[in-house]
Amino acid sequence: MTTPVDQQRVREHVRDLQHRLAELSPHREVRIVAVTKGFGVDAPRAALAAGLTMVGENYAQELIAKHEELSTEERDRIEWHFLGRLQRNKVRSIAAIVSVWQSVDRSELIDEIARRAPGAKVMIQLNLSNEPQKGGAPLSEGERLVGQAREVGLTVIGLMGVGTAGDPVETAAGFARLVELADRLGLPERSIGMSDDLELAVREGSTMVRVGTGLFGARAPRSL
Ligand SMILES: *Cc1c(COP(=O)(O)O)cnc(C)c1O
Repeated sequence: MTTPVDQQRVREHVRDLQHRLAELSPHREVRIVAVTKGFGVDAPRAALAAGLTMVGENYAQELIAKHEELSTEERDRIEWHFLGRLQRNKVRSIAAIVSVWQSVDRSELIDEIARRAPGAKVMIQLNLSNEPQKGGAPLSEGERLVGQAREVGLTVIGLMGVGTAGDPVETAAGFARLVELADRLGLPERSIGMSDDLELAVREGSTMVRVGTGLFGARAPRSL
């Protein structure tokens, strides 16, 4: 069972968020990735109806299921961003669907994506908190992974990170480290900021926030 999505309310949340982002960042556009995990196909549809085209998913199965329910016209408009922890053996099954691989955090994934989706757009995910369950490579590995991805012909567009929960000072410091590395490596996109920490992320230099609950409401707990 998935929680139903109210298109009208999503549209209002998108408008409000766009205004907030424009206020927080008047000189740099911050784009929204609508994170639809835990919801049904009505979530990407509501995102499209509200004018968003970048949609994020965390689980290969859920991504495939939603993609299959969309019409050809809807598929053409959506740009899927893969955000979740990714097993190497799942890459092939979603290679034709994913537009941007945001959660690339290790060498074997880089090689597999280069093999199954040559030239694809990727972001290297960094772990900003040293909480291993959050995924992401250590900051010290970032430069090497970016170099490797470029070498095998992938298009590295930026860095992605999940903020440290709880302590805003630590969260901001983690975002700042990611932005500094992106600057140094000449990477335009910094995908930082979720529903609960997007103001901090935008202040630190986010170009892309990934928002789920802030647009669609609370997710049902994930059942196994
Ligand atoms: C779930 C998720 C989001 C969205 O989180 P919300 O708190 O619902 O906004 C963003 N990024 C990643 C990597 C996620 O897993």
